Amino acid sequence: MMQNKFLAIDQGTTSSRAIVFNDKGDMLETSQKELRLYYPQNGWVEQNADEIWQDTYACIKDVLKKHPDCKAFGITNQRETTILWDKRNGEPVYNAIVWQDRRTAEYCAGLKSKGHEERVTDKTGLLLDPYFSATKIKWILDHVEGVKHLAEEGHLAFGTVDCYLIWKLTNGARHVTDATNACRTMLYNIRTNQWDQELLGLFGIPETILPEVLDNVADFGTTSETLFAKQYQILGVAGDQQAALIGQACFEKGMVKSTYGTGCFSLMNIGHDYKKSDNKLLTSIGYRLNGQTTYVLEGSIFIAGAAIQFLRDNMGFFSNAGESEALANSVEGTHGVYFIPAFTGLGAPYWNPDARGAIMGLTRDTTRAHITRAALEAQAYQTQDLMSAFIKDTGVKPNVLRVDGGLVANKFMVQFLSDILDTPVDIPSCRETTALGAAYLAALGSGVFKNLEDISKNWNVSSHFNPEMTQKNRDHHYAGWRSAVDKLRA
Ligand code: ADP
Repeated sequence: MMQNKFLAIDQGTTSSRAIVFNDKGDMLETSQKELRLYYPQNGWVEQNADEIWQDTYACIKDVLKKHPDCKAFGITNQRETTILWDKRNGEPVYNAIVWQDRRTAEYCAGLKSKGHEERVTDKTGLLLDPYFSATKIKWILDHVEGVKHLAEEGHLAFGTVDCYLIWKLTNGARHVTDATNACRTMLYNIRTNQWDQELLGLFGIPETILPEVLDNVADFGTTSETLFAKQYQILGVAGDQQAALIGQACFEKGMVKSTYGTGCFSLMNIGHDYKKSDNKLLTSIGYRLNGQTTYVLEGSIFIAGAAIQFLRDNMGFFSNAGESEALANSVEGTHGVYFIPAFTGLGAPYWNPDARGAIMGLTRDTTRAHITRAALEAQAYQTQDLMSAFIKDTGVKPNVLRVDGGLVANKFMVQFLSDILDTPVDIPSCRETTALGAAYLAALGSGVFKNLEDISKNWNVSSHFNPEMTQKNRDHHYAGWRSAVDKLRA
């Protein structure tokens, strides 16, 4: 039987992948390459843009061998990572500066102290933080020789990873990005859906280097005839967390998805009206289809699964992450131990970059089982911190939380999450929700899917968890967490 197939490019922080899906959302083929990160100085994180392209290209060729009949491409990518290149030959002028890079922290602090944050937040939904692309672009313009001159001559291009990949895939024919990637640059006004002149002025960035911004489903270009045996259209693009929101079919106002990988990212669909958070969440574009914007509130936690990696690799508590579940279940509770995995600072809703991790409440009888259990429980508490902020901002408590990412293989963690949130939690049958979201966008673009309902119909639950904890216990556990976080911040 003929199948409709779509190729999703999933270019992440630690790897580049190409995955072929059919229109039922089944994964047919996958190819992956690990990507190197470079740390040239304390707090700096870079990647080689050409490696990003070469790896991605190799993965695409790999999966096309068996599935040359893909109908279209979709792209999802690590967001905010910044690439500048020479339009004449596609050569990057500097390494890609990765979202995790903190080199512009002082510059951001300076702008904040001059009182610029409120206006920036008002227009972009973001906080004045090195995380986003704008100050990374400025750093390259200011520090790499000849780059300002290139810009003046009109030869310089900026793009996030999606945009650079499209440039390479179309052999320089298209300089385009999508609204979800644009909105993380801190240069894009998410109320007016335009690059913002005032912000470009504030950061000293020339408009000529910016890509055109398209809806998530659009004609992003056709692959160059030199690359593959056939030419393919690129019909869908979204940043990774937004693609996961689409893969999780969170299309109704109030729906929330949380992804638990290295870090944790929760997005709540807030509908078509822009809303500024009063609780230090970010506002972003969730998706833009047929010119209509759907906004999300976003909470980011820097360390989720990485806390389990830490116990495995640094503490030697177990040899694979899966063992953490039996260990956590081997004790009744943590005996008052709390693990705050703020290794790189506290993210939303605290935004304290100087905080560091802590394990509190140790006693003579604390074992690795208690500490492991505390690390898993921390995932639930961190999510509850975000959920309280979502609820305060919107007045809406979600009926259910849809989760994905490597950590949700841990049933203890997911049950405890449901218990602390007092909310049912669903794990979908396809765990690769990010890549799936990109494939779905391509399916919409090619007309195989007519509308978002076709995506919702494909979404299936594989496991469902209901809250089982009493309110008294829930309050007791969470109060302990809040008090531990307060002590850490003090
Ligand atoms: P990323 O996409 O950010 O690289 P993944 O979604 O692949 O991350 O998730 C990997 C993370 O999940 C790792 O940090 C790992 O420690 C954690 N992890 C994987 N399986 C389990 C498990 N069964 N229990 C607890 N943690 C797990």
